[in-house]
Amino acid sequence: MDWCPRCDQGWVVRCRVREQVDVIEVCEECDTVWLEGQSVSMDAYTDLDPYMSGIGKEPLWSNLEPLERGAQR
Ligand SMILES: [Zn+2]
Repeated sequence: MDWCPRCDQGWVVRCRVREQVDVIEVCEECDTVWLEGQSVSMDAYTDLDPYMSGIGKEPLWSNLEPLERGAQR
């Protein structure tokens, strides 16, 4: 897991979006999203709200399935 370079307060956790094949990396604290294959850096990122609305889902952690331990909310 990477430490979030944006908020510097949380871990970036790999998650699968429920009912989707998409795997994203999400900061547990600030909900910054990195897409699969994107390196976790300040060069490129998005946020959970626009990402989830882009695929027609509510921006809720209950719609995400953590693929790593340590993701507790
Ligand atoms: Zn963060």
